[in-house]
Amino acid sequence: MTKEQIKLNYEKVLRGIKELDKEGKVKLLIATKTQSAEDINYLISLGADLIGENRVNEVREKYELLDRRASLHLIGSLQRNKVKYIYDKVDMIHSVDSLSLAEEISAKCSKINKVMDVLIEVNSGKEEAKGGIMPEDVEEFYASLQNIPFIHVRGLMTMAPRCNTKEEYMKYFTLTKKIFDKLFKDEDDAVLSMGMSESYLYAIEAGANMVRVGSAIFGERN
Ligand SMILES: *Cc1c(COP(=O)(O)O)cnc(C)c1O
Repeated sequence: MTKEQIKLNYEKVLRGIKELDKEGKVKLLIATKTQSAEDINYLISLGADLIGENRVNEVREKYELLDRRASLHLIGSLQRNKVKYIYDKVDMIHSVDSLSLAEEISAKCSKINKVMDVLIEVNSGKEEAKGGIMPEDVEEFYASLQNIPFIHVRGLMTMAPRCNTKEEYMKYFTLTKKIFDKLFKDEDDAVLSMGMSESYLYAIEAGANMVRVGSAIFGERN
């Protein structure tokens, strides 16, 4: 993909969001797995301020090269034993789905006196092979995180199953939004991270205020 094409794609995604998001409350996070630091920095130079890496290794490889004006999030699943590589590099972790992971993040962050923003990942499609907390267990899991000192639970994230229709996507997004409203109704700046290239417009319609878009900007990954 040429830089010119990346720019056109980025602007198109921004326009799509803006059309649905009259109040300007939806944030675009650019999902940058497999992309070069150069292309990522190009988008940051155009104004992109939220970058999401999927894998710990890519955070480590690109971290020193990335333009610091953008906030870096970890959006992919995270193993407990890899927290040590990223706790000092990312501003938010979207994939908290176990107490032991939350405790490890807190333990590492305590050493640098940092409170990590985290999202609870919801397995909205109840897929066995996927991470995330089952929808019916999210409330209890959220409660169990309350006394962990160096994390701040800011909201929810979901990766919906791959769907063929808007209606199917809406089922998963609406379910997640319902849980979000129940748990975070008193927090003005709570984060609901859902929707990817195929589905971000549906996610916004369902109430997402952060969408994670990769291939619609960079083209299909090899
Ligand atoms: C890759 C990825 C995305 C974006 O997917 P696209 O289909 O490329 O837009 C969003 N969320 C997560 C967790 C991802 O790994």
